[in-house]
Amino acid sequence: MSASDLESAIRHLRDLVEGARVVVAFTGAGISTECGIPDFRSPGGIWTQMRPIEFGDFLASQEMRDESWRRRFAMEEQFGGAKPGRGHRALASLYKAGKIPGIITQNIDNLHQDSGIAAKDVVELHGNTTYAACLDCRKRYELHWVKQSMAQSGGRSPECTVCDGYIKTATVSFGQAMPEAAMRRAQELTDSCDLFLAIGSSLVVWPAAGFPLAAKRNGARLVIINREATEFDDIADLVVHDDIGAALATFITH
Ligand SMILES: [Zn+2]
Repeated sequence: MSASDLESAIRHLRDLVEGARVVVAFTGAGISTECGIPDFRSPGGIWTQMRPIEFGDFLASQEMRDESWRRRFAMEEQFGGAKPGRGHRALASLYKAGKIPGIITQNIDNLHQDSGIAAKDVVELHGNTTYAACLDCRKRYELHWVKQSMAQSGGRSPECTVCDGYIKTATVSFGQAMPEAAMRRAQELTDSCDLFLAIGSSLVVWPAAGFPLAAKRNGARLVIINREATEFDDIADLVVHDDIGAALATFITH
């Protein structure tokens, strides 16, 4: 977009936000790329170079569990220090102003919480990679504990200290069921809004991509902010194909 196109899009976006009663934001990898976290699923992304470990494989073999944790700690070295970007901060400002009751995200990076949004108001469709949990009893484990445990056992990933279940990052892996409570809460948020902001998602991953469509069908306005075109651009009330931080920075108040 040209600078003047972006400016007029931002004015339009401000009008839509000011005129809305309840705004719900749905975010994907694009909001975190300016924080240095790559879009794993994009062409050229990590998942196209290295096949992800599917949930069934994680359950089936110690070797896969160890490998999964090795990859996680390699990621930590690259992206562990990531901080919220302008998009995260803008949404946190709207949240603190009472405009946004909650955020639905496909991201697992915890950056919405880091920007000041209460964890209970961040609906994580794909879970969270900044901590771990036992797959059986759901006891929470911190990553440094897992790392230490692996260092002491020659690289063998640990089991739950309570029930011997497998410990995995709190993410939803490929092949793992979508979290029901999160899906329900995402649907409630979608139904409650009169303005739906789809930010940094190509909107192709189902069922997550159904939310913008449901919002539109409920009569909400739909805004899509994404660098590339999406298949819902035609039904959106405003489409911004530009840098997400640049498009949203106008809302940052702190
Ligand atoms: Zn357990």
